[in-house]
Amino acid sequence: MATESVKYLLVGGGTAAAQAAVGIRELDKDGTVLIVARENHIPYDRPPLSKGFVKFQPEDPADIESKDSTWYPQNNVSLRTGTEVTRVDRDAKAALLSDGSTVAYEKLLLATGSTPRSLDIPGSDMAHVFTYRTVDDAQTIREMAKGIQNVVLVGGGYIGMELGATLRQLGKNVTIIHRGKHPWDNFASAITGNFLQAYFENQGVRFLMEDEPEQIAGNGRAQTVRTKKGHAPSADLVIVGVGVELNTSLAQESGLSVDKGIPVNEYLQSEEDPSVWVAGDIAAYTDRVADKRWHAEHHMNAKWTGKQAGRNMAGANEPFSQVAYFFSDMFDLEVVLRGSPGSVHSTKVLGDLDTANFVELYSDQQGVVRMAIGVTRDNERYGAMETALEKLVLEKRNARDVTPADAGLV
Ligand code: NAP
Repeated sequence: MATESVKYLLVGGGTAAAQAAVGIRELDKDGTVLIVARENHIPYDRPPLSKGFVKFQPEDPADIESKDSTWYPQNNVSLRTGTEVTRVDRDAKAALLSDGSTVAYEKLLLATGSTPRSLDIPGSDMAHVFTYRTVDDAQTIREMAKGIQNVVLVGGGYIGMELGATLRQLGKNVTIIHRGKHPWDNFASAITGNFLQAYFENQGVRFLMEDEPEQIAGNGRAQTVRTKKGHAPSADLVIVGVGVELNTSLAQESGLSVDKGIPVNEYLQSEEDPSVWVAGDIAAYTDRVADKRWHAEHHMNAKWTGKQAGRNMAGANEPFSQVAYFFSDMFDLEVVLRGSPGSVHSTKVLGDLDTANFVELYSDQQGVVRMAIGVTRDNERYGAMETALEKLVLEKRNARDVTPADAGLV
C-alpha cells in the first residue's frame, strides 16, 4: 500500500489520544493528524464502564465518547479504528499499520495504554471468566448480568471495588477475593481500606481477604472459585481485576528504553527521541509536585497528559505540572485522591468515618502532606474536597496544621 504522510501520528485510541488531538488543534488548525485506534470504537472515556454503564446509565456507548463522532471530521482529524500500529521505524520516521499501510510522520504520540492481567490458574480460560477494560467487555457483562446471580471478583483494587459495588446495586451476590489485608492496600491505608470494606459489607458484599483463587471449577463455564484458604464461592460470572501490563512493546521494539513506562521529560517528550511524545498510562513522567518519576493509571492522567502532549507537539512548550488526581464512585460514596501514592510515614484523619465524610492525609517523614483521600456522600462536598486537597499537596502543607476547613470538610 502507498505511504501517506502526516504531521502528527497519534498511536492509541483512548482518552489520551483524543485529548492530544484536541491539544494539537488548539494551536495548529491545519497540520494533518491521524489517530490509529486498535479497538473498533472511536475514543471513549473509561470511568463509566465500571460504574453506571453496567446499570445502563448511559445505555448508549456513544454517550461515553471522549469527543463525539462529528468532532473528528469537523476538526479535520483522521481516525482509523480497528487498526494497530505494528512497528515504528524511528530513523525513517514511519509506522507500519496492521492493514499493511505505512504512515510517515513528523511527530509521534505513543498513548497505547495497558492490557489487563489474566489469572494463570486452572479454569481461568473457561467461559464466563473475564478481564475488564473495554466498552465491549462492559457491554458483555451488563447483558450477562441480567440472567445471573452470583459474581466473584478477583482483586480488591479499582475494578474489583467499583464493579463489586455496581453489581451489588443490581442485586447480585457479590464476593470479592483479595490477597491483601484490606481493599486498595496498594495505595490506601488500613483506615480507609477497612472503612470501605465495612461499608461494602453493610451493603451485602462478601470479602475473602488475604486469600487468592486457586482454581476455577465448572462444567464448560465457571461455577465455583476455589481459594487457597479452602473457600468455594459460587460464580456464574468471574471478573478478574488484578492490575494491568503497560503496552510498551511497540516503543521497546522501536529502540526506546522502558522503565515502568516510557521515560519522558517535563514536556512529555521522549528523553531519547525529540520527535516522540508519550501520554496516558505509559508515560513515566517526573511529577513536579511529588518530586518523583512514576506513571499514573487513571482517566484524569490520560486526559491531562494527552492534552498537554498534544499542545507541546504543536509547539506550546509547556511543562506538565498537574497534581495527580484519581476519583472513584462506589454505592453512594464519592472518593477523591489527590497527590501521589507512595512511601508514606504517617496518616491523619479529619472528619467523621461514621457519617462517611472524612479526609485522610498521607504525610512523609517531615509531616508534609504528599497525598490525601477524601470520602463523602455529598456531591457539593466532593467538589470542595477535590480543590482543597489539591491545594494541600501543592502547598506542601504540614499535616499537623491542617484543619477540617482546610481539607474542604466544612
Ligand atoms: P488495580 O487497581 O491495580 O488493583 C489490582 C489488585 O489486584 C491489587 O490489589 C493487587 O494486589 C491484586 N492482584 C494483583 N495480582 C494478583 C493476583 N495474581 N491474584 C490476586 N490478586 C492480585 O487494578 P485493577 O483493579 O485491575 O484495575 C485495572 C486498571 O484500571 C488499573 O490501571 C486501574 O488503575 C484502572 N482503573 C482505575 C479506576 C479509577 O481510577 N477509578 C477505575 C477502574 C480501573 P497487590 O497490591 O497485592 O499487587
